[in-house]
Amino acid sequence: MRYDIAVIGTGPAGVSAAITAKVRNINIILIGPGAMSWKIRKAHVIKNYPGLPDISGDGLADAYDKQLKSLGIEITDTKVSMVYSMGSYFSLQTSDGMIEASAVILATGVVSEASLPGEDDYVGRGVSYCATCDALFYKDKTVAVIGYSKEAEAEAEFLAETSEKVYYLPVFGKEYKECGIDGCIDGHAVQNYSVSGKYQNPEVISDIPKEITGGLKADTLVCEHGIKKVDGIFIIRDNIAADRLVPGLQMNGGHVSTDLSMSTNIKGCFVCGDITGTPYQYIKAAGQGNVAALSTVDYLNTLRKGM
Ligand SMILES: Cc1cc2nc3c(=O)[nH]c(=O)nc-3n(C[C@H](O)[C@H](O)[C@H](O)COP(=O)(O)OP(=O)(O)OC[C@H]3O[C@@H](n4cnc5c(N)ncnc54)[C@H](O)[C@@H]3O)c2cc1C
Repeated sequence: MRYDIAVIGTGPAGVSAAITAKVRNINIILIGPGAMSWKIRKAHVIKNYPGLPDISGDGLADAYDKQLKSLGIEITDTKVSMVYSMGSYFSLQTSDGMIEASAVILATGVVSEASLPGEDDYVGRGVSYCATCDALFYKDKTVAVIGYSKEAEAEAEFLAETSEKVYYLPVFGKEYKECGIDGCIDGHAVQNYSVSGKYQNPEVISDIPKEITGGLKADTLVCEHGIKKVDGIFIIRDNIAADRLVPGLQMNGGHVSTDLSMSTNIKGCFVCGDITGTPYQYIKAAGQGNVAALSTVDYLNTLRKGM
């Protein structure tokens, strides 16, 4: 089945885009964390959202959730690792398989961590952003998982089912400092289970990744206190840089180049929210989500008329 629009991101921008498109009776899929953006949930009190003075982040997220449900919009809780433009449609690689859509709205927020030196050079040549997509390439091999978010723990465990050896470097927040015990992540034991009959716990490494080096393929993770020889490196962040998610996307610094219609240099690919630049604000993100959805509906209409 091909959707009309795939909206990627469950922050204010993506939620708003999904609502507007649904109200226009468009066949959409909304992809992102089911609990929605942590940037909504983490806000203690929000003072600048019109009509909702002093609402908490949780309160806003719950209100979004209620509105989505009332419109029959379900969040598809998965991560998109690549968006391929196929000309008249898009093919999205996700942790749960491929999804097709005639148009895409990127509402994935801003990437907070800079790339590691060497990372960009080895994307697709030993550097991956999705364990479930690429694990089989590293069957019986040695891999490192660099986790900038807790989601990386599950990815490390998943890889351990097929890879010979998994180094896991959790480099997020205070959990990282508390960690570093083999087999223990954030106070929880890494589950020792086996799906394929073979499972070795990921080895937790307390070190800071500094660089990725290699020859034709990445083969070394250089850390502050030593190196790890590996066949592949998985980097798990909340957000993937937009031009890595959608190859060929025109950027302006760390943001996607766009105009007042929220279109990009790629036909059928629209953007909204923090991904487009400052100011980083809920209401701006939601407003741009609305515009992006309406522009996408116009685009679909011209596509249907064969213009
Ligand atoms: C603690 C905190 C408090 C804040 N307080 C305020 C405030 O009071 N007022 C205000 O106006 N602004 C505030 N902000 C800023 C505000 O959070 C952001 O401007 C806003 O969330 C941006 O919305 P967005 O939808 O563009 O992106 P985000 O909210 O960042 O949402 C992006 C979504 O995309 C998802 N995603 C990313 N990549 C993928 C992928 N590859 N596949 C699937 N899903 C993906 C993410 O998981 C997330 O759900 C605050 C921010 C923080 C961190």
